Amino acid sequence: MRFPQTFIEDLKRQADIVRIVQDFVTLKKAGANWVGRCPFHKETKPSFSVNPSKEIFYCFGCQKGGSVFTFVMEIERVTFPEAIKIVAEKSGVALPKMVDDGRFEAHKRESDQVIELNQWALTWWQDQLQGKAAGGVREYLTQRGITEETSQTFKLGFAPDSWEALSTHLRQKGATQEQLEKSGLVVKKDEGGSYDRFRGRLIFPVFDAQGKPIAFGGRTLDPEGEPKYLNSPETPAYTKGRHLYGLNLTRDDIRRQEFAILVEGYLDLIVPYQFGIHNVVASLGTALTPEQVKLIGRFARKVVVNYDGDRAGVQAAKRAIETILAEDIEVKVLVLPDNADPDDFIRKHGVSEYNRRRGEAQPHIQFVIDQAVRDRNLQNPADKAAAVEEALPFVRAVSGRIQKREYFDIAMDSLRVQKDQRRELWQQVRGGASTNALTVQNVITRRVQPTVAEEKLLGLLVASDELRNVILPRLEPTDYEALATSAIFRAIAALGKEDREISFDSLSEATADNSMAAEFLPRLLMNEPAESFDESLADANSCLNALRLMKLDREIDEISAQIADADRAGENDERDRLAMKKLELSKQRSTFLPHGKMGK
Ligand SMILES: [Zn+2]
Repeated sequence: MRFPQTFIEDLKRQADIVRIVQDFVTLKKAGANWVGRCPFHKETKPSFSVNPSKEIFYCFGCQKGGSVFTFVMEIERVTFPEAIKIVAEKSGVALPKMVDDGRFEAHKRESDQVIELNQWALTWWQDQLQGKAAGGVREYLTQRGITEETSQTFKLGFAPDSWEALSTHLRQKGATQEQLEKSGLVVKKDEGGSYDRFRGRLIFPVFDAQGKPIAFGGRTLDPEGEPKYLNSPETPAYTKGRHLYGLNLTRDDIRRQEFAILVEGYLDLIVPYQFGIHNVVASLGTALTPEQVKLIGRFARKVVVNYDGDRAGVQAAKRAIETILAEDIEVKVLVLPDNADPDDFIRKHGVSEYNRRRGEAQPHIQFVIDQAVRDRNLQNPADKAAAVEEALPFVRAVSGRIQKREYFDIAMDSLRVQKDQRRELWQQVRGGASTNALTVQNVITRRVQPTVAEEKLLGLLVASDELRNVILPRLEPTDYEALATSAIFRAIAALGKEDREISFDSLSEATADNSMAAEFLPRLLMNEPAESFDESLADANSCLNALRLMKLDREIDEISAQIADADRAGENDERDRLAMKKLELSKQRSTFLPHGKMGK
């Protein structure tokens, strides 16, 4: 059913958009417009305008705009028909009869029938849970620490191990074969007829936000049983990805607490609920959909994602974060130790420990960065580029500009991206255009060219055996490991140690997997030996000094970044400790007297 189009047009004209917006935003008259601070993004100067004669609003900051209905949909997080009702009420306009839409009505009838059958099945399964045959299930629930009261709250049931016990019961209640098949409670046989879908399983009913039973999940009790969880198929009452498990019970608490904890499975919701955590919803295995996020968004604008800590859970959490950000909802991530899920964790460590950790949930960007730097060495430009590539989509997905910039800076600080590179990356992120892999790679790796000092030192080492014998023993891996040419230094050191010849061939072979070396080696080998040994040695020493000075500079940069991290995290002791270390390095640097000017 829907409202007639003519009514919608009339209502738009009759509704005073200024008055309706003013319930949420303080507006001041400015020429033809009324202006105020945008309710959809954080700002200090007003860039939000309402034009009553054009019946529209628009924000110059975040570009949100539209009719009075759009405004109410956005601010109240409601659907279009609901926005119409709200506007009509605020404007004192009576609602007309809904348009009778034949298809809609037919669908509604079918859906209602499925829900009625589901209700019959649910009541019957609940009764079965009290029976003799359900001893094993009750024992399982006890083992999981689930009380009788919780079992009642969630209307858990037991489907006996029978091909037709439920169908027989439903037929006795008056269900036709066609209705049975439409409900998904039975499986159709090829040769006609049907059998019960759920057999020998613990039943978790799934309700819509209004508390109607729309689908079921059944957990096998046979350790060998497949699948572990069996779910209802889609029916007129149930579309996958449109509902959230538990929301019918938890919506008011979510609204009150102004955030929702998002978990994966039935028990991840039921167990915390039993322990008094009532602002939880479960996405139930399938990837979180935009519809599900919109549904949460009607009750709270913050979500704490608490999926399993294993690999699959982390991947699912990352997908969920992107979906949630796209709906302009703030996300934090709670990863429990030892890959525990909420159910296991609470039973093992108690609810106060869970609450403590939940209070310390990471902002999404920190979680994403932690994942991006895992198993990567940020000293290595290719690794750094890969980490930046992994993190940037989660910055881009943030819609508020100020928030986006904040997250961008955190990501760039943590990933140690240089100032000039940031500027270019920000250009790409700000616009929202998708950054392709090549561009990030280019920005991050492009500037890592050999410095004058390293190129000159390599040239000297390659050209003279005598000089090599003096310098190599003094050369530490830390002198070159962060350099663009580290692979060549490493190769020369290794060849030198084995007393092997340094030639184009031997160096090429030793650096075969390094593209920078392949480009650089011919130029290096073209060097002619210097005239005098003393002169070469002085040059080499001066280069080595320059490299060590550069290394100190890098360390100071790194410590400065760590100080900023500690400061942001409020770890004052750590910050002070690092500041002392930085002071020491600076002192060390000032006593460093580079010979010549071979710096970067
Ligand atoms: Zn705005």
